[in-house]
Amino acid sequence: MESALRVAVLACGAKVLARMLAEAGSGRREETVLCRCGQRMESQGVRGKELLTILGPVAYERSMFKCPACRATRYPGDEALDVVGTTRSPGLRRMMARAGSQSTFKDGRDDLRIYAGLEVSAKDVERVAERIGQEMDTWSQEERQRRLAEDGPEPEKDIPLMYVSYDGTGVPMTRGELAGVKGKRADGLAKTREAKLGCVFTQTTVDEEGYPIRDPDTTSFVGAIETAETFGWRIYGEAWRRGLARVRKVVVLGDGAEWVKNLAEMHFPRAISIIDLYHAREHLSGLCRILFGSNEKRMERERRRQWALLDAGRVEKIILHARRHLPVDPDLKKAAQAEIQYLDKNKERMRYAKFRAEELFVGSGVIEAGCKTVIGQRLKQSGMEWTVRGANAIIALRCVMKSNRLEDYWESRVA
Ligand SMILES: [Zn+2]
Repeated sequence: MESALRVAVLACGAKVLARMLAEAGSGRREETVLCRCGQRMESQGVRGKELLTILGPVAYERSMFKCPACRATRYPGDEALDVVGTTRSPGLRRMMARAGSQSTFKDGRDDLRIYAGLEVSAKDVERVAERIGQEMDTWSQEERQRRLAEDGPEPEKDIPLMYVSYDGTGVPMTRGELAGVKGKRADGLAKTREAKLGCVFTQTTVDEEGYPIRDPDTTSFVGAIETAETFGWRIYGEAWRRGLARVRKVVVLGDGAEWVKNLAEMHFPRAISIIDLYHAREHLSGLCRILFGSNEKRMERERRRQWALLDAGRVEKIILHARRHLPVDPDLKKAAQAEIQYLDKNKERMRYAKFRAEELFVGSGVIEAGCKTVIGQRLKQSGMEWTVRGANAIIALRCVMKSNRLEDYWESRVA
């Protein structure tokens, strides 16, 4: 009974909506309609199209205008209703985008049928989600550009402490997208391409023991499969949008990857740069294995000692100790020297005692969790294969969603 009633009520609603749309689509216009080329356009009478809405299909007629000079056409009614070049209403697109961003496109289709009584295909969900993801990416990029172009920071309150953190994670790709991409597999081919994800959040308080607490609901995400250079501007733009100019102290948190460091130096030169403590510990464990791997007990003892030194930020002492115990075996020696070089190069980013004294985060858990929830949960399910275009659209969609900015986006479209 309730399902049948829902169908009837929706059909009723669709009729009411059709009447309202008829008024929006045609009728006398006060303003003249201008072409992009500047010419005044001429009315060509009404044209019909069927709109798919959350109430079901709705017949809709609207005036068409044509430019006498360049023959371009415009439908002012479509522009007012935000249905230019699509037969799907904004309300339906919004549901489809959400459904497609949350789960597989097939699951999205089933959810829409069960929750909303809407019949769409999985391919439809994919197309709509992808298009909206692209539009969201353009929207957020334009917003960042606009903020960067503004003269000075807005006269708002200072932000005491901002964290910028970013990382990479592999996304499984279709064969065609992997040509020329080097991989770690035995045959030298890659199965994935790296998506870069960044986040910005603030911190103002610490708990009773002096450990930092992330300000609730301040984390925003940006990401894409793109070069480090392009991504650098993306994360910088996001930090700027979040008020970088008003920030008193900036912290860049990441693993020890070279691109992470390079972007920090280029875009956040006055930031305190910190290597994630757990990554640093892993490097030390690796070093201990190289130096003392032949003696299990000793290796464990050394590892604990080195970790304690690391916590104290005494990287020079760790390096000195390692140099004194370099193995004779040439391969092991080389490996040890690589680790020593890594420590030496990054020592200023491993002053954990100092960072802790300043009550700063020293772990990049937020961005690592982000890689799982923003990207992994949706894009790395078994059997999935993506194109760069499709993956980037869904990443953009999920970044906007996980940044709690979906409503901002739809409001900007209404405006
Ligand atoms: Zn024209």
